Amino acid sequence: MGEVARRIDFAEESSPGGVSEGEPLRVVLRVRPSTDEEKLRGEEEAVSVDSAAGRLRLKCRDRIHHKGSVRERGEAQFQFSTIFGPSSSQRDIFETTTLPLVEKLFKGKDGLVFAYGATNAGKTYTTQGRGNMRPGLIHHACQKIFDTTSRTGTDSPSNAKLEHEVNISLMEIYNEKCYDLLGDNETKKIVTLRIKEDARGSLFVDGLKKQVVKSVEQVTHALSQGMKLRRVAETDSNERSSRSHAIFTFYLDQFAVHAEGVTELVKSSSLSIVDLAGAERAGRKQGCDREKIRETSHINKSLMNLARCLEVLKENQRRQDGKKHLVPYRQSRLTRLFQPSLETGSAVMIANISPLLRDSDETIHALSCAALACQVHVGTNSLYSWNKENVLSARKTPGENSMTRELARERAKSSQLECEVKRLQLALAKTESRICTMESEVREEAANEMEQALAYMETECARRLQEAAETSERRVEKRIELITKTARKKMLGRARGYVDQAASTKYREWLDEEIDQRKFEEQLHQEERIELLDRIEELEIVLKDCKCVKDLSAVIDEAST
Ligand code: ADP
Ligand code: MG
Repeated sequence: MGEVARRIDFAEESSPGGVSEGEPLRVVLRVRPSTDEEKLRGEEEAVSVDSAAGRLRLKCRDRIHHKGSVRERGEAQFQFSTIFGPSSSQRDIFETTTLPLVEKLFKGKDGLVFAYGATNAGKTYTTQGRGNMRPGLIHHACQKIFDTTSRTGTDSPSNAKLEHEVNISLMEIYNEKCYDLLGDNETKKIVTLRIKEDARGSLFVDGLKKQVVKSVEQVTHALSQGMKLRRVAETDSNERSSRSHAIFTFYLDQFAVHAEGVTELVKSSSLSIVDLAGAERAGRKQGCDREKIRETSHINKSLMNLARCLEVLKENQRRQDGKKHLVPYRQSRLTRLFQPSLETGSAVMIANISPLLRDSDETIHALSCAALACQVHVGTNSLYSWNKENVLSARKTPGENSMTRELARERAKSSQLECEVKRLQLALAKTESRICTMESEVREEAANEMEQALAYMETECARRLQEAAETSERRVEKRIELITKTARKKMLGRARGYVDQAASTKYREWLDEEIDQRKFEEQLHQEERIELLDRIEELEIVLKDCKCVKDLSAVIDEAST
């Protein structure tokens, strides 16, 4: 990281002491603006750009993980020949990066544009655009291709009429497997395609569907249908993060139609526009989802291998002893497919940059890869340009076109190349055996580390569990104590209530009994009174009778006297 923290202008320097030939790989930086949501969230920006001076400054969030000036000052400075700031338009990017390749396409040269960068840096926006209002590179390239084909002219030497056929294909590399996104419904996402070499060493994806297209609308429709199948997922930084590398390719076949009605294929070329998946650290949203972790590891591995290829290409161009290292193109599908373009210099890298401070760690990685790519000088007479011409010539009638002369010249070189191939094969065998040994060592080391990590995790887990058990036991005891106290209090209160209640009930019962007793006694008194009254009445009657008897006896006495 220390290396990229310096002021860099690789794109304009030739490598010191090197023997590089050809042109440096074209690298263009694009810094996107903050989105409305990011502004609303108050996300801090960390990137400032001086496009005229080709200077970019980046504030770093996590300076302790870096070395040198980034660690000291907390910021890095970069110098690139072409930097597009946040206000750049899709058209500007197209004209600088892809338009020259579209022009070369009509001259029979293959091309590759790839958008590289961290997740959320603007790769998909750059390649595919957003809606109809902000069309991306694919749309602009398509428009330019159909504009040119509609102006069909004549091929000057033979005075033949030129005709074009445009085909497209769309594939994704997901978890190191190739899938056709324009294929038949049943096969999409299921059938994996293999990258193969034909007899002349040219690469092709076996079984990849090529669809003939005649208008921009047909391309837009096919692209939107195909992209619906592309694997995307929510990540820490992007709600719709692409989890695969998407490779969209235009194939242009140019035919000369002669006066006598003979149709001859004169040029055949392709232009690929690639939206790479973004490198991302395993984040919170991935959690323990093994599938997501696997996806991320495949993405990171293939991007790291791309960086490794660039590193080896840069290293090889410095060597003067002719002993070049094997470029590890074969270690990932992506680099295998990029190999011809990287070797022939027909590739353009767009390094997309997020302006946010929270993405600064990923941004610094993308910038260091872009800086590395600037140092790669690509030759024009590589093995692949030779193969390509060979393939094309093989498709035509010998002696009928200018390419045959080229082929004769190239044949002279072929014996020399064959020797080179043999030497490379030998080197490859040696390297492969070295890689095997290294791989087993690395595996063993990784297994040991993993074992240690697991053992540590196990002890740590056991300790934490023990701690947690003790804490929870203490808590439970406290709780029980608290509950007991509260319960006792409540029970006492309730008991007192019961006692009070019981006492009052007893008293009421006693009162009731007393009242009943009184009532009973009163009733008794009443009955006694009535009895007495009856007795008195009887006695009065008796007294009356006695009086009568007495009166009668007095009368009798009187009478008798
Ligand atoms: P990536 O594909 O690198 O993960 P995206 O292309 O999905 O990132 O971009 C992330 C967000 O930033 C999207 O909302 C996109 O619309 C927005 N964006 C990216 N580049 C630009 C730009 N140049 N101008 C405006 N918005 C952009
Ligand atoms: Mg994307």
